[in-house]
Amino acid sequence: MIHHDTVAVGAGTGRIKFAYHFDKNLPVFEALDTVGGLVRTIEYKNCKFDLAPHLLHLRNPYVRELVFDKLGLEVENHRRKAHIYYDKTIIPYPFELNLLNLSEQTKKDCIEGLDEVKSYNKEEEAEIRKGSYRDYALKCFGKGIANHYLLPSNRKIWDTEPSEMTCEFMSHIITADKEQIRKNAFEDNTDSFGYNVEFYYPIHKGIQDLADIFARQLTNIKFNTSAIFFNTRNKTIEFSDGSIVKYNKAVSTVPLQTIILNSDRDDLKALAKELVFTSVYTVNLVIRGTLPDTHWMYFPDKDLSFYRISFPKNYFKKSTPADEQIIAVEVGSRNHNLSIEEIERKVVEEIKQMPIFKIDELVFVHSIKIPVAYCIYEPKRPAIINKLMSELEEAGIYQSGRYGKWEYAGMQDAIMDGKVLSEN
Ligand SMILES: Cc1cc2nc3c(=O)[nH]c(=O)nc-3n(C[C@H](O)[C@H](O)[C@H](O)COP(=O)(O)OP(=O)(O)OC[C@H]3O[C@@H](n4cnc5c(N)ncnc54)[C@H](O)[C@@H]3O)c2cc1C
Repeated sequence: MIHHDTVAVGAGTGRIKFAYHFDKNLPVFEALDTVGGLVRTIEYKNCKFDLAPHLLHLRNPYVRELVFDKLGLEVENHRRKAHIYYDKTIIPYPFELNLLNLSEQTKKDCIEGLDEVKSYNKEEEAEIRKGSYRDYALKCFGKGIANHYLLPSNRKIWDTEPSEMTCEFMSHIITADKEQIRKNAFEDNTDSFGYNVEFYYPIHKGIQDLADIFARQLTNIKFNTSAIFFNTRNKTIEFSDGSIVKYNKAVSTVPLQTIILNSDRDDLKALAKELVFTSVYTVNLVIRGTLPDTHWMYFPDKDLSFYRISFPKNYFKKSTPADEQIIAVEVGSRNHNLSIEEIERKVVEEIKQMPIFKIDELVFVHSIKIPVAYCIYEPKRPAIINKLMSELEEAGIYQSGRYGKWEYAGMQDAIMDGKVLSEN
């Protein structure tokens, strides 16, 4: 048995950052043969595929200084071009601020719905946000906007009824001003709105560059070493190579549900199983042809299997050879055992029918499954995660990152999480 005071399990962005800040020689045990977790880029047939398209929304000054100035990540800055395909029309994102080019009926529904909505002050809106996402959408935007876009779109992304979801996942999302919505419905609008108006993308290998700049600083990552059993009473971790490590403190990005299921805490397993999540299946179609001039597009239509498509060539020229481009299609489902071949077949069929793409040649398809992708915010979630995380902390295990803490968080949050944890 090996003894370490502190160990890290998982070399995703959060944990690499934790080790970077805490002790560059900290033992980090990683299940895969490389760093980055979801922040990885796969090279295949001269193309570069992120596991799912990952764009950097770095607003925090500490993170920006660290990533750009200290670690020297080289990026290109992009002004968001995001769209929605609705009513057989492409409109800019977000929906509610771009009603202008929708059909007269949809626009009428949205404006009439909005007329029935009361004006709320901050406290009143905060109170509404304590209820379900469905109630928030209906109360703050009215029936039209809610039923045409917000509810179908979120139902698809989370594969969950909006009436069964809380609003916690949208803590960073600002509610658009009603007067602005009305004004924009009748005149051209070139303003951008929301938290992700600009984004960065690395210029060399893809999003993998971000993981690599942190990993280069570390000296003690053990690859191909999966933690398979956590004995919380003895404070030991058993790894796939047969080694057993005794720790005083362990920082883990193993998904909260998984760590409990692979532990001696039989008393918590039923509770952990109550946590729900989607898997995401990214189907990358490499094509020759003409695509819309956009970075990504949402598809709320319930008859299409996918919720979003990204166009990496429009922010990362090196993603394919010059005459090819990628259509990166994301399908989300709470069914974790869907056949990837079946999803691929359906997606290809649907994409070929779409009038907005001109595909001269489908060169090949490359699909990737993200088994745990979106942790779902159900009303019971806060109590479950508090209980599970506090029980683990009793055993010296500190959960961190998007899946460790079972939350909806981006790369910037994972980096900050590593910093805060190391300081604590
Ligand atoms: C579809 C999708 C799109 C996204 N797009 C964006 C985006 O555009 N911008 C953005 O900022 N964020 C985006 N994110 C979120 C981003 O991926 C996460 O915030 C970030 O990857 C979290 O990092 P992490 O280290 O917490 O977890 P992970 O990236 O999951 O890393 C966990 C690491 O732990 C390892 N591990 C797990 N179990 C074990 C074990 N038992 N033993 C050893 N090692 C183990 C894994 O192999 C992995 O390396 C997206 C996420 C998804 C699902």
